[in-house]
Amino acid sequence: MTAHSFPTGTILGYPRIGRRRELKRAVEAFWAGTIDALELEQRAAQLRAANRERLASLGLGRTDSSIPESFSYYDQVLDAAVAVGALPARFTRFLDADGGADLEAYFTIARGVGDDAPLEMTKWFDSNYHYLVPEIGPETSFSLHAERILAEFTEAKAAGFLTRPVIVGPVTFLLLSKAADGAPEGFRPLDRLADLVPVYAALLERLAEAGAQWVQLDEPALVSESIDEPRDRVLDGVAVAYDALGAVASRPAIFVAAPYGSLDDALPALAATPVEAIGLDVVRGVLPELLDPATAESLAAKTLVAGVVDGHNIWRGDLATAFDRVEAVRALSGAVAVSTSTSLLHVPHDVDDETALDARLVSWLAFADQKVAQVAVLARGLAEGRDAIVAQLDEASAALADRTGAPGVRVPAVRERLAALSERDFSRADYDERVAAQAALALPELPTTTIGSFPQTGDIRRARAHLSSGALSDDEYRDLMRAEIERVIRLQEEIGLDVLVHGEPERNDMVQYFAELLDGFAVTQHGWVQSYGSRCARPSILWGDVSRPAPMTVDWSTYAQSLTEKPVKGMLTGPVTILAWSFVRDDQPLGDTANQVALALRDEITDLEAAGITVIQVDEPALRELLPLKLADQPAYLDWSVGSFRLATGGAAVATQVHTHLCYSEFGVVIDAIRKLDADVTSIEAARSRMEVVDDISASGFDHGIGPGVYDIHSPRVPSAAEVQALLERAVADIPASRLWVNPDCGLKTRGYDETVASLEHIIEATRAVRAEL
Ligand code: GLN
Ligand code: ZN
Repeated sequence: MTAHSFPTGTILGYPRIGRRRELKRAVEAFWAGTIDALELEQRAAQLRAANRERLASLGLGRTDSSIPESFSYYDQVLDAAVAVGALPARFTRFLDADGGADLEAYFTIARGVGDDAPLEMTKWFDSNYHYLVPEIGPETSFSLHAERILAEFTEAKAAGFLTRPVIVGPVTFLLLSKAADGAPEGFRPLDRLADLVPVYAALLERLAEAGAQWVQLDEPALVSESIDEPRDRVLDGVAVAYDALGAVASRPAIFVAAPYGSLDDALPALAATPVEAIGLDVVRGVLPELLDPATAESLAAKTLVAGVVDGHNIWRGDLATAFDRVEAVRALSGAVAVSTSTSLLHVPHDVDDETALDARLVSWLAFADQKVAQVAVLARGLAEGRDAIVAQLDEASAALADRTGAPGVRVPAVRERLAALSERDFSRADYDERVAAQAALALPELPTTTIGSFPQTGDIRRARAHLSSGALSDDEYRDLMRAEIERVIRLQEEIGLDVLVHGEPERNDMVQYFAELLDGFAVTQHGWVQSYGSRCARPSILWGDVSRPAPMTVDWSTYAQSLTEKPVKGMLTGPVTILAWSFVRDDQPLGDTANQVALALRDEITDLEAAGITVIQVDEPALRELLPLKLADQPAYLDWSVGSFRLATGGAAVATQVHTHLCYSEFGVVIDAIRKLDADVTSIEAARSRMEVVDDISASGFDHGIGPGVYDIHSPRVPSAAEVQALLERAVADIPASRLWVNPDCGLKTRGYDETVASLEHIIEATRAVRAEL
């Protein structure tokens, strides 16, 4: 192959959902049957074309492979599974004769059909993006289906672009896969690497034929230590895969990208292979300090792509430091390029769309388009020297200085309060003492409750839309929500639940609701990011010191409590979850920010108690989401995250029953952290895994109240009373009845009323039956 030089500036990927979520709309219209596959293809092609033009206008080269082809209709891991033909047998009947997936089949694999479950979905590294998990077994056959990748490259070419195809690399693909059902004990997807690599090799040949000069293979799994595979097997895999791909006679130059952290010992492994370029995340990761001579020598012969523009947050950041980092990478190899640290998938399109945001805040921000422009500036500096870009570096530094000193960023009262905290503020009285005091709640054995939200009906959503358009006054809106709360309370009383909820009708989202009421946050209009498939979230921006100008939930909760003799749970979102689902300031440790949020919640709890609320739930469904990829960083994370929860709840009276809710069931991974939260009652997901988690709970000696879910709220299916009873019997066999709670897996907001009511009735029926057996 002829070595084409790598472009001086590039990005690892660009948002694909569209500036106004055009792809979401088109895909959902296709699912609903209102547009056909051809129309969907056309809209997607328009979107890709517009993105390429946009990237070129922002400073990426049209014909130097700097623009990545990073489009996906749903998910890049699913795309890779389709491209290598590794699809579970249950979907074979949807495929073409040669094993290819058309759009209909593609979405069927993503979303499931009838009894054929879709691929499982899980978190993409430490981001809020979720990917589909391929299923690989000893029998899985691999075959190349490169049509879509080639078509997008050729489509670009026809429009005058020479772009860079992007695909998940073979090692990461297998490390992110799970063993297919029925695979023998001990089988690992990585066992199949030698069979998979030839398919990638064939892909490279096809790309070369089509005229691609560079290809990007994403290998983020190499930076993660949370991958369930011995490290030496991973490193062997790197050698096997990239020695073989490097040996392909006719191929594009290979760029291996490794976002989300340092490559560590995978860097020497990659350096020893014939790949032409390696991407280093120099934002999350650090540069290697001591390289062995062989690695130093091989790196010096490669292009190092310095990921210095943070692809994972929305801050304009420190451009001068970014440029220094590029220079530092240059010390390792003369051939250096500038890039984002990760794909820009994690940030919204364009800050200029945010016309309602404070202009000063806007000047501190960079969304995807601004980050591309930053890459272009740094690339120019690389080519022409620092002097050529000194004006832009200075401007960014000035914005940063402005941010540091701006009102609201550092609020003395908030800081003083934080500084004055002592150990005592993070602890409640002994659990036994609390249990005794909480006996006043007079709950039956196996108390029943729900996780908080009731179905968010069309009427509720319309009322909120009308409130923001001005069609409803504040008072009219409040009356509608109160009517809804009253309905939900009456319904729970009729069904016979023990601890009630108000149903959360007033919350658009469990984080944004609080972000809108707390100082230090801003909310965007168009700042959508893809969370999975066609689903997007609009994270709030936590930019300043956080404080609570006024109570946030007290009116709703006390109204609900006024309607019933039974306890109604106050319902708050915990500090870690508020951070995890927002764009958070990057100018101080996350733990400090979490503690500011915690203090606001602590005050809310005090106010709820004063208003007569006796049970308060602080949800932390995202506790595990921010868990660092490097094992060495995990204890410190668990320390501050648990600490912030304890600070939020540490002021609660002994008689106040503090609940928490976590959305997942991999209890084992964070059991120590959950124990340290010291909540009186913890509810977790368990129905989906048929109460398997009960073993972990009892083995761990967890001795506080626990509510393993008995109703899988992810599906419209109504569990029968017998089924729930069986789950409960399984639970009481291992967990003392005095500690066991009965609840669904999660909130009910995405469910319809019919299935909700029927399911809750079955839960009560089952609980009564099990109580009678005690
Ligand atoms: N209280 C929230 C609800 O019921 C919890 C949601 C969640 O765990 N994601 O909707
Ligand atoms: Zn949940």
